[in-house]
Amino acid sequence: MNSPSSESPSSRKCLALFGGTFNPVHFGHLRMALELKELLGFDEMRLLPSHQPAHRAEPGVSAGARRDMLALALEHCPALLLDERELQRAGPTYTVDTLEELRAELGSEVSISFCMGLDSLLGLPGWHRWERLIQLAHLVVVTRPGWQIPRDGEVAELLARHRADAAELKRKPAGCILLREQTLLPISATGIRSLIASGRSPQYLLPERVFDYIQTHQLYKSEKQ
Ligand code: ATP
Repeated sequence: MNSPSSESPSSRKCLALFGGTFNPVHFGHLRMALELKELLGFDEMRLLPSHQPAHRAEPGVSAGARRDMLALALEHCPALLLDERELQRAGPTYTVDTLEELRAELGSEVSISFCMGLDSLLGLPGWHRWERLIQLAHLVVVTRPGWQIPRDGEVAELLARHRADAAELKRKPAGCILLREQTLLPISATGIRSLIASGRSPQYLLPERVFDYIQTHQLYKSEKQ
């Protein structure tokens, strides 16, 4: 029998995380998470709302409201799970701390993939202890229209060292970058917020229950949120 190694088990459990502010969650996020889970064969896909992203301005809507909207959106989708750990942590959210925590919980053999848009990958060198991330997890990067894969610089070097194909995500627990071209619905949370702030409706861009929640709690009425 083979002993566990960092290259071996095909039965390796594969967990994926899809992080974001989800301010608010919309169909673009949900379709992307579901498609990545199904197409890459992850055993689990967790949506991971961030508390106070260190590299972005703090969102005006409370963490609790963003969590509630996400929970409503996921209520009828058993394929997608909510992981609230970053909201429970006081202070800034660092992805590297989340991944360290998950590694400590799950052990070194589980494959962990952290999913992000190409826009996020380009900003990666600004993240806290960013070079450690690839030691803790794979990065699954979805290319977004208008964003180019860099030819030089730190991100280009990272890609040159770690770029791999989808099969590698199961073969190894961490250390690969997969670039995926995926259908992106042309929806953004920024667009939804500005629709509402200008008195227009975001209906059909996000789940009906999330829309109801926004109306009940009068969210995003001002541009600052
Ligand atoms: P904002 O407009 O406030 O920047 P956003 O809609 O881009 O928000 P985030 O919460 O910042 O959403 O994004 C979480 C993740 O979802 C990021 O990795 C981002 O690249 C991805 N994402 C955002 N919009 C879409 C979309 N329409 N389709 C697929 N993925 C998306």
